[in-house]
Amino acid sequence: MRFEGKKVAVTGAASGIGEAIANAFAREGADVAFMDLDMDKVKKLAEAADGTNNIGIGVDVSDKASVESAFSEIEKTYGRLDVFVNCAGISIIVPMLECTEEIWDKTIDVNLKGTFLCMQNAVRIMDKQKSGSIICMSSQSGKVGGGAYQAYCASKFGVIGIVQSAAVEFAKEGIRINAVCPGVVLTPMWDKQVISYAKKRNIKPEEVMPYFESKIPMGRIGTLEEVVNVTFFLASDDSAYLTGQSLNVCGGQVM
Ligand code: NAP
Repeated sequence: MRFEGKKVAVTGAASGIGEAIANAFAREGADVAFMDLDMDKVKKLAEAADGTNNIGIGVDVSDKASVESAFSEIEKTYGRLDVFVNCAGISIIVPMLECTEEIWDKTIDVNLKGTFLCMQNAVRIMDKQKSGSIICMSSQSGKVGGGAYQAYCASKFGVIGIVQSAAVEFAKEGIRINAVCPGVVLTPMWDKQVISYAKKRNIKPEEVMPYFESKIPMGRIGTLEEVVNVTFFLASDDSAYLTGQSLNVCGGQVM
């Protein structure tokens, strides 16, 4: 198995991309900490995943005390951390003139501050062992701005900034830090925002995915497995000479 015995932690593991990544690492032999807001759900998912040493941890990534307590539980349980995937995130499509301070603050708190706080705590553990790989879920919206998406784009551009800065700081400590930038992947996040996207484009909700597909050079949206595969690449020694990179997984929509 590809990650036998490795200690892995994933935020956003109760849903969508994070859940797929956490389960995939468990299938490949890793001991996985499933982390998310919904403690009951991550505990159940950890129990149902392959292997016997998975744990579920309730955490609010935007809350410093909650993040510190979650990582201290990981260190106490596993004693080390080989791979950390920073995947928790929220996405709210809203025209600029309707974007409230609350939407702005929440998006930045979860997506940007949350990424930083979790990375800081992961690095504290990895720095002791002088090894580790951190993968942050940015987005193609972290590379190119989209209308009615300022807070999200700012947060995802910011994630790439954190990744590049931290990659430089910890390269000599044996810690590699990279980002994945998916295009559209069908997850519960999209269930929530198809209506807002339809409104933004003035199309029907059922026309949203065909609209996206028409914009993607490869002619289709991405799959969870395709995001997992790139995450596996960044987590493994196959990418030993990569740090500070942000890899687009979007069928050629962003280059
Ligand atoms: P998702 O299905 O909504 O999963 C995100 C998970 O993060 C949810 O379980 C959510 O919990 C959790 N979360 C939200 N706020 C949190 C907090 N403060 N602390 C801890 N967990 C929190 O979304 P997804 O599509 O899998 O997205 C995963 C990541 O990929 C996100 O960072 C997203 O921006 C990025 N991404 C997704 C796409 C895509 O097309 N799906 C494209 C590019 C990038 P709740 O459900 O309770 O809020």
